Amino acid sequence: MINPVPNAPRLTVRDLRAVAVEVPMTYALGTSRGAITKAPLLLIDLATEEGIAGRSYLFCYLRAAAPAIAKILEEVLRLTKGDAVAPVDLWAKLAQRFALIGVQGIVRMAMAGFDVACWDALAIAADMPLARLVGSRPKPIPAYNSCGLGLMAPDAVADEAEKLAQGFRAVKLRLGYPTLKQDLAALHAVRRRLPDVTIMVDYNQALTVAEALERGHALDQEDIYWLEEPIRHDDYVGAASLARALKTPIQIGENFSEPAAMAAALAAGAADYVMPDLERIGGVTGWLTAAALAHAHGIEMSSHLFPEVSAHLLAATPTAHWLEWVDWAETVLEAPLQSVDGCALAGDRPPATGLPGTRRRSRAIACDGGYWHFVYFSVVIGRTALISANGVWRILQGTFCSRPKRRATRTVRCRRMMSLTSPATRSNARLASTT
Ligand SMILES: [Mg+2]
Repeated sequence: MINPVPNAPRLTVRDLRAVAVEVPMTYALGTSRGAITKAPLLLIDLATEEGIAGRSYLFCYLRAAAPAIAKILEEVLRLTKGDAVAPVDLWAKLAQRFALIGVQGIVRMAMAGFDVACWDALAIAADMPLARLVGSRPKPIPAYNSCGLGLMAPDAVADEAEKLAQGFRAVKLRLGYPTLKQDLAALHAVRRRLPDVTIMVDYNQALTVAEALERGHALDQEDIYWLEEPIRHDDYVGAASLARALKTPIQIGENFSEPAAMAAALAAGAADYVMPDLERIGGVTGWLTAAALAHAHGIEMSSHLFPEVSAHLLAATPTAHWLEWVDWAETVLEAPLQSVDGCALAGDRPPATGLPGTRRRSRAIACDGGYWHFVYFSVVIGRTALISANGVWRILQGTFCSRPKRRATRTVRCRRMMSLTSPATRSNARLASTT
């Protein structure tokens, strides 16, 4: 599937940096599982020996997850530094080395972030958009606006839907109110306001199988495009029973952990459509396997979040369906994804991620207000003061204690001090400031 690029330089992993930022969302995401008003993102920079940088970002869901993933990325760097940037091989190596802790959760997210940055670097080295590198070309992908439209009063959700439908032909509504009556009230309010717009609904795993059957039968009368994650995401038997019983197509997949989970779901008949998530399916490498699986099963495949990279990958997905459009990362992007007449259109130039250099990232941190700048500089100044005091103490020790054993101890301690001032640790200080 991958095009040979004879003139592209071979790349070698040199360094990996991560910076956490928290970006206020234009529209709060109020789901049945809780509300999110700020997007905690982890911005990842891969440096290569050849001078080409690859970038990616992760959506961390929780602020506390960002520094934890950054720590795992330090381990990723330790294991891959000096290796060729060959994402399939690197994924296999890391999966083997992380087998005991398990390639899941934030370990898998770190690996996926690294994988996307590797592919981005390869696309830049080849001077082509990611869509071309994986065997296709940038092309319009139907997109639905998935911003906002959380659980709120019917009039409020209809007002918001009207704004979000501008420039799109489809929107996604979160359901999972305490009662079916409330679900229908929200849906009818949006439908009255937007009679010609396609509507998907997402329960975010809120229901039991019995509840999903009851509400699903009611929604079967409402011309809903798909019914997303009505029950616990890994209950494939339950999802299969819903897919058989309901007219409305069942959509799942944002929680598939690597393509193996998707294969299990498809084998169980758990979905009519699938929508893998870039950081859970295994980055670009995992996506390509998932796309082949969907193709083999003849099942439509959409994306979950990460619209910038997903637009490239859906272009190369034989059963490409819909792109989930969110604007959460736009503040930190140099080149946000463009939408034309309800379709997302990936850029024809790398980088695939649209991620920027340092200048724009600084602005991203600033968008969280001055408080985090204060914390960041406090951490840096405090640490500098600590290092200085420690240094003075070592000099005094060196002056008054000259026995060889003491000198050996000092050497070890000095190395540890040096590591405190390394770029990686400065990055950690910055990470800590966002938590
Ligand atoms: Mg969802």
